[in-house]
Amino acid sequence: MRRFFVEKIEKPSLNVYGNERKHLADVLRARVGDKVILCPNDGNDYVYKIVGFDKNSVSLNYVSENKNETEPELMLTVFASLLKGDKTELVVQKLTELGVKRITPFISDYTVQKSKKNERLKRSAHEASKQCGRAIIPEVTEIVSFDQMLKTLDKYDTVVFAYEDAYTSGKRLSDVIKGNEKTIALVVGPEGGFSEREVNALTLAGYEPVTLGKRILRAETASIAGASVIMCLAGEWS
Ligand code: SAM
Repeated sequence: MRRFFVEKIEKPSLNVYGNERKHLADVLRARVGDKVILCPNDGNDYVYKIVGFDKNSVSLNYVSENKNETEPELMLTVFASLLKGDKTELVVQKLTELGVKRITPFISDYTVQKSKKNERLKRSAHEASKQCGRAIIPEVTEIVSFDQMLKTLDKYDTVVFAYEDAYTSGKRLSDVIKGNEKTIALVVGPEGGFSEREVNALTLAGYEPVTLGKRILRAETASIAGASVIMCLAGEWS
């Protein structure tokens, strides 16, 4: 059944307008009698049956509801430095599929692309949530600076500072992830990596560098692979 995100649920019936109506009626060519899942971002799936169309809306009747089982227990936040082109959209899409709860783009010393329309990133998260069956669209926050990001890290149970030069002296993910955390933050730098100032600031703040292996991963690979392994070590894949 197709999934759509709505502002709120109304019973016993409701109307869907705008893009969602267009998608249902024109793209999917849904018909009266078809069932769809509506999600108001409360963690539940609500099944509705289409009962009518007009040029502005689709009318649906409530059928049933159940808790969406795809949302992870772990509250994983990924702080990903803004990347060139549409790579940040790719990162948001993949992290959404992986169950990440919040994505915060940041600008660091070596970040090349210094701005990105937040709407574009939110749309990536919205579309990926529909595709992968989530009931809650991950939060994509406004872009922050490195220093703003640094100030927020102390509220997480575990912080994974992914540092490309940490293979010889850094920590392993399996040492850092305890498996009982409620909140974890993964921090990944830009194409040019972290500056010495940033490495010092993070380590002085008590966040030890963590290696993601012997090879230098592209920033988008590091965010996606790092989030995957954290989800696995946190027990979200067992
Ligand atoms: N400065 C790096 C170099 O030597 O080419 C490039 C940085 S890498 C493309 C982008 C980001 O991905 C890094 O800042 C780091 O956060 C993460 N990363 C890439 N490979 C990693 C690795 N093997 N271990 C830990 N983090 C890694």
